[in-house]
Amino acid sequence: MKSVANPNIIFPMKIISNYNFKNKKALIRVDFNVPLDKEYNITDDTRIRAALPTIHKILNDGGSIILMSHLGRPKGGYEEKYSLKHLVPHLTELLKNKIHFADDCIGESAQIAANRLLSNEILLLENLRFYKEEEKGDEEFAKKISHLGNVFVNDAFGTAHRAHASTTIVAKFFPNDKMFGILLADEINSINKVLNNSVKPVTAIMGGAKVSDKILIIENLLNRVNNLIVGGGMTYTFIKAMGGNIGNSLVENDKLDTALEIIKRAKEKNVRLYLPTDNIFADAFSNEATIGISAIDNVPDGKMGLDIGPNSSKEISEIIKNSKTILWNGPMGVFEMSNFEKGTKAVAEAVAEATARGAFSLIGGGDSVAAINKYNLADKVSYVSTGGGALLEYLEGKELPGIAAILK
Ligand code: AMP
Repeated sequence: MKSVANPNIIFPMKIISNYNFKNKKALIRVDFNVPLDKEYNITDDTRIRAALPTIHKILNDGGSIILMSHLGRPKGGYEEKYSLKHLVPHLTELLKNKIHFADDCIGESAQIAANRLLSNEILLLENLRFYKEEEKGDEEFAKKISHLGNVFVNDAFGTAHRAHASTTIVAKFFPNDKMFGILLADEINSINKVLNNSVKPVTAIMGGAKVSDKILIIENLLNRVNNLIVGGGMTYTFIKAMGGNIGNSLVENDKLDTALEIIKRAKEKNVRLYLPTDNIFADAFSNEATIGISAIDNVPDGKMGLDIGPNSSKEISEIIKNSKTILWNGPMGVFEMSNFEKGTKAVAEAVAEATARGAFSLIGGGDSVAAINKYNLADKVSYVSTGGGALLEYLEGKELPGIAAILK
């Protein structure tokens, strides 16, 4: 993954690159909500690695670090399986540095451990969500956390859409010393490059299962893009709304009017709305199903469309390759099954090719990230977002409380 060219464009004084952490204790909200197996081994450390540039910058300046995060969804109290102590061995290995661990995130043990920290030392706090106050955004709780450090750094994009104590409320106790970490700044700049500072032609590729999940994003994007490519399961709601035969394909019957409205609005705004013209259908939702190809509006009775067809792949790839700014969210078909992955793979390859030709490409949303990784193309696109819900809300045009709290 390439780094975003200039992370300073939008808020020069609010990112850690412009701050000297010498002799400072940086309280960093990271997103270390990583998957663990039964033996507490980390099965995917992407989120931890994403925070390393921020950690290294602060250590290089001669500062000390207090890391705080949530892990999983504890019910509000200690649960062994959600203890952040399980991350200590892996963090030690990654950072080649001793990791001190506090078995609480507030109170005496955390405060003593924070007070003892020397320059270049790292302290990891216990899971914030062992306290119900965290998700409630409790001000007293946030104040207690704030006593641990003298600079607040938010580097957790994955939780930036939540007004929790450690992601948002705590910022008010650092009126002059609150800032974005490198990861969060990169995320914001990447999205802004697509939504606000984009080079034309701008193409958004929206896929996935349901129109209902993506309506607000599509509405926001219609004001900003030149091409809007729709694929995946949501295609069939549009096709049915236009009178096509979709057989047993996925459809949201209560969204037919919405689909027609989107088509109308795209026309009014001069956005080229591209719907697939053909598809691969199957007689069951299975990789072993019998498959065939049909026009998208002529799926045989009893069959379901599970991928875009070869003509659509070709047409979509051409549009993508000729774009200068690209946003991709959601697969073109059931790419988890090899018989229905061709459309998604074609999109991934076209995005990589456009990027090689100089386009800026942002990939976001769990399944398109999974797809770009599956085809080993993550380092051939400009930016792969670490945010799920946070990214979607940002693309909808909403203000994210975690970001607003730093900018205030
Ligand atoms: P989403 O979480 O809404 O982005 O949807 C992603 C899921 O949509 C993936 O698991 C895909 O398998 C699924 N999907 C994509 N195309 C189709 C389709 N034509 N029919 C059913 N599911 C689909």
